[in-house]
Amino acid sequence: MNLLGLHHVTAMAGDPAANVAFYTRVLGLRLIKRTVNFDDPSTYHLYFADTVGTPGSVLTFFYWAGQPRGRHGSGQATGTAWSIAAEAVAFWRARLAAHQVAFTEETRFGDTVLRFTDPDGLGLELVATAEADARAPHAHPEIPAAHGLRGFHSVTLTHADPARTSALLIERMGGREVLRDAAVGRVRLALGAGGPGAYVDLLAAPSGPRGVPGLGTVHHIAFRVADDDAELAARAEWLAAGLQVSPQMDRNYFHSIYAREPGGVLFEIATDTPGFAVDEPVESLGATLKLPAQYERHRAEITAALPPLPV
Ligand code: ZN
Repeated sequence: MNLLGLHHVTAMAGDPAANVAFYTRVLGLRLIKRTVNFDDPSTYHLYFADTVGTPGSVLTFFYWAGQPRGRHGSGQATGTAWSIAAEAVAFWRARLAAHQVAFTEETRFGDTVLRFTDPDGLGLELVATAEADARAPHAHPEIPAAHGLRGFHSVTLTHADPARTSALLIERMGGREVLRDAAVGRVRLALGAGGPGAYVDLLAAPSGPRGVPGLGTVHHIAFRVADDDAELAARAEWLAAGLQVSPQMDRNYFHSIYAREPGGVLFEIATDTPGFAVDEPVESLGATLKLPAQYERHRAEITAALPPLPV
């Protein structure tokens, strides 16, 4: 399977306004796409990313106002990590503190990792790494470019026993083990060429609680392929591995297939094409509500029902 790394992570949030404020004002990401949940057009589906929506920088949310928070635990993607420069860590300590975002700090494979949550409790991390990462962060007036979020570093999947997930990633999805910390039960797999944006960490939590879906939990993680041909080849590989795989679906900005991995996390494979500029210019990404064709004739009612956003 020719995976190029992570494509996007999709999680669940409650209040869209608080969510937008946190990701754009505190973390300095760009709201690059304002659309609706294709299965429930009365709610937003919002995408945050770098300036152009580069695959591997994209965090998206579904909004289920009034629903309970989930519980972090096994069978879940429990950590979504961005790559920052090693010398940016002091800046982010100060910035998170200034915004009253409580964080903890740990050393992971030699990198300093700041861990915190978003307003709904989603587990987020900044990995301050010396590893080369040429990706450019979105420009933000309060965040020097050298300190910005450069796209994802990794995702952490927590499992009571990661063996079957590990086998799927290594034997069927082109993953390879690159680092292991037996003391904490963490194994890092690299996809494709590896590097920040192409890591999946498997964390063994044999005695921890089982995760429960809800606000502040990850809905699915998506891996990158270049195009439809690579996606259909990946689909055949998943089927050969015995997974229940969806048909290929058109998500307007990419084409997707889905399968639940043996440990319970929903995996997606998404194409780099056509990309987020397919329905609006890069300069104005996210400025207006974009609707799939089937909802366009209901635009007025849909727009009236959606809450305003602080952008
Ligand atoms: Zn997705």
